[in-house]
Amino acid sequence: MNKDLTNKVAIVTGASKGIGVGIAKQLSTAGAKVIVNYASSKADAERVVGEITANGGTAMAIQADVSKATDVKRLFEETNNAFGNIDILVNNAGVFEVASYEASTEDAFHRMFNINVLGTLIASQEAVKHFEGKGGSIINISSVVSKNPEPFVSLYSASKAAVSMLTKASSQELGPKNIRVNSILPGTIHTEGLINLGIEKDSDMLKGLVARVALGRLAKPTDVGDLVVFLSSDEATMITGQEIDISGGMR
Ligand code: NAP
Repeated sequence: MNKDLTNKVAIVTGASKGIGVGIAKQLSTAGAKVIVNYASSKADAERVVGEITANGGTAMAIQADVSKATDVKRLFEETNNAFGNIDILVNNAGVFEVASYEASTEDAFHRMFNINVLGTLIASQEAVKHFEGKGGSIINISSVVSKNPEPFVSLYSASKAAVSMLTKASSQELGPKNIRVNSILPGTIHTEGLINLGIEKDSDMLKGLVARVALGRLAKPTDVGDLVVFLSSDEATMITGQEIDISGGMR
């Protein structure tokens, strides 16, 4: 048994930035051919592809908005044309917004549920078509707030709770097709997404978040990537329907 993913083909949604970059790089290091999906950040996605290929890996950037079914269908078709049969889907693309419960808007609801939840659903449905007859692995990036909600992220927490339940529910239906579905629950990871919320590297807010982690540090995107590699590998063939916390013991 090992974590070798040679000849496997993986799609990582939202891999132009943040956690998706760490996932794409670790999958490539394990031998997989990787699709670096992005919505609008073409240059970032191409830089990630460049870094993977410079390291001896195989990768390609493909634009697709995961909340649009036609884009997702094209993402899988282009992947299949370039690299052949798809084995691994990582539903990482996601957006988060901070607002009080009373100030949470319909627009924010639709944005977060369309990308985080509907995007996970339609990409997974497309993956199932491509996995038909041979099985595969779907890994959804949820969040610790799906279980332990924090103030000012009600809609985001609700969207990630939906992702976690899609994971568990779909694993029951897809098990007989040898398709495993698991979710990973990061705590805080300092990505572009957090910087966009104004959480800078040496800020008091970030130090406060680190202080809540039993291991005394924030996880890195590659830590999530290592867990994705394990869950995609032959070492995890009996693991499905699980939610795995990778927060370092966040309180
Ligand atoms: P990030 O730095 O903001 O990066 C988001 C990525 O998602 C980008 O590559 C972005 O591509 C892509 N994306 C956004 N909307 C998309 C769409 N409609 N279609 C396709 N791609 C889209 O975010 P992150 O912090 O790495 O978070 C990644 C995932 O981890 C999310 O699901 C998030 O909820 C989850 N998470 C993050 C944390 C954390 O502390 N960072 C904690 C728990 C869970 P473009 O740049 O092209 O738009």
